[in-house]
Amino acid sequence: MLYQGQRRPSLFFAKQNPTETKKRMKKIEKILVANRGEIALRVMRTAKEMGIQTVAIYSEADRLAPHVKFADQAVCVGPPPSNQSYLLGDKIIQICKELNVDAIHPGYGFLSENAAFCQKVTDAGLIFIGPSPESIEVMGDKLSSKHAVARYNIPMVPGTPDAVTDREEAKRKSKEIGYPVLIKASAGGGGKGMRVVEKEEEFDEQMDRAVSEAIASFGNGAVFVEKYITSPKHIEIQVLGDKHGNIVHLFERECSVQRRHQKVVEEAPSAVLTPAIREAMGKCAVDVARACNYYGAGTVEFIVDEDLNFYFLEMNTRLQVEHPVTELITGVDLVKEMILVAEGHPLSFKQEDLQIQGHAVECRVCAEDPKNNFLPDVGTLHTYVRPQGNGVRVDDGMEEGMAIPIYYDPMIAKLITYGKDRSEAIDKMVRAIDEYKIVGIQTTLPFCKFVLRHEAFVSGNFDTRFISLYYKPEVLDTLPQAEEEMLAAALASHLLVNHKPVSQASTSNAGNPSRWKTQRTALR
Ligand code: ADP
Repeated sequence: MLYQGQRRPSLFFAKQNPTETKKRMKKIEKILVANRGEIALRVMRTAKEMGIQTVAIYSEADRLAPHVKFADQAVCVGPPPSNQSYLLGDKIIQICKELNVDAIHPGYGFLSENAAFCQKVTDAGLIFIGPSPESIEVMGDKLSSKHAVARYNIPMVPGTPDAVTDREEAKRKSKEIGYPVLIKASAGGGGKGMRVVEKEEEFDEQMDRAVSEAIASFGNGAVFVEKYITSPKHIEIQVLGDKHGNIVHLFERECSVQRRHQKVVEEAPSAVLTPAIREAMGKCAVDVARACNYYGAGTVEFIVDEDLNFYFLEMNTRLQVEHPVTELITGVDLVKEMILVAEGHPLSFKQEDLQIQGHAVECRVCAEDPKNNFLPDVGTLHTYVRPQGNGVRVDDGMEEGMAIPIYYDPMIAKLITYGKDRSEAIDKMVRAIDEYKIVGIQTTLPFCKFVLRHEAFVSGNFDTRFISLYYKPEVLDTLPQAEEEMLAAALASHLLVNHKPVSQASTSNAGNPSRWKTQRTALR
């Protein structure tokens, strides 16, 4: 199928004339959301608020899904597997023509980073609510994105500038940058095609594995080598650009709690960035976006080492899963801005108008069993009761009685809390997790509660090794009761206020806890 690969289509598009497109304005009256689940609903809600009609597409597995009921019109696109439904780009474009749709919002995943689809949408006279096909193309490949930003002096992790073709040369380079190194798929995404090499003897074996994983996942075996930063934080910057050359950033999101290189808990702002580093990273992110003439919402990802040196990883040319935490701390509805930009409006605010207010945390509610290596779990939602109350936002796409289909991403909902400061946001999250009642499937919520109450997380003193350092499935059987939790939280807040890095965590199963120094930033 033409649209199965989500990244790295082989075409490069020069058809669109940017100057012609630039100043054209078109009011969008009807949007088709080419997605499902929570993100389809989230986009439609904003569209409705803007007086825009909505069209849902759905597979046979999603016939009764809330996003189908919410939309003004809904069309079944095919059987459950994505390549017979949500990835059928031509069919989706045809539906748009038949229903007089003006624009397509792709959400995330599926067709959102497919440059060929984006070009076809534009060629069909429709608006793609997202960046240009050229931006998607350039940033869809880790190596080509590094080349694109080269003239902007963006800090990069030391590594090979191009795909590895000569193994001996790659080994020489790895020795030069120093082991451990990371072999990465150029077309990579979702943490796939990445292999850590601890020493030269392992190089060939890990290289073979990375290449075959890259071919299997992306149909493209190009890999490159990077220095492996041993205790990094993953911190990313939200950017927003218009079709008139204006680009701003909306500060950072901290996404270091990951399993299999995929995020589980995110927050904004970060507990460790100083205002100066925040500004420097923001400027870099805007430069990255400028390097590919970016418009719409996008995210520039960095890894940050213990000395707060930051390095560009990649740019995601779409709305991110974790965008709500940015919305809560900035007051900006990112989907609304994406739609306005797609219509041709200039951004209605400047960088200096944006401020961080308060703190937000997001937990991904995935249908996975945290006691069984986070393996996907399917079943029927016999009980499904959302938490409510001040500072709690639930973005979901299902309801009680629904079966969770096996065909799609296991993330079924996002729980987001907002407080005047970090500890308030964390306390609200723990309360909300306790209130969230899901019976019928295992979810990541108990694991998230463990994270939220762990002293390393509370202190800000953690990195992407959080799970390997602190998590064992047994800890979920001994999660502290309410009183102990309050004591632990009080202790951790005390440590935070006194700027003391937390020493070895009680549940640690490995040698070196994180050595991050927490920065209490003035966040106004
Ligand atoms: P993907 O596109 O597959 O998500 P990324 O380049 O965004 O890949 O990296 C995903 C995660 O892998 C990062 O958040 C980080 O945890 C880890 N990672 C990536 N590059 C490095 C590196 N050079 N050193 C250490 N960890 C890394």
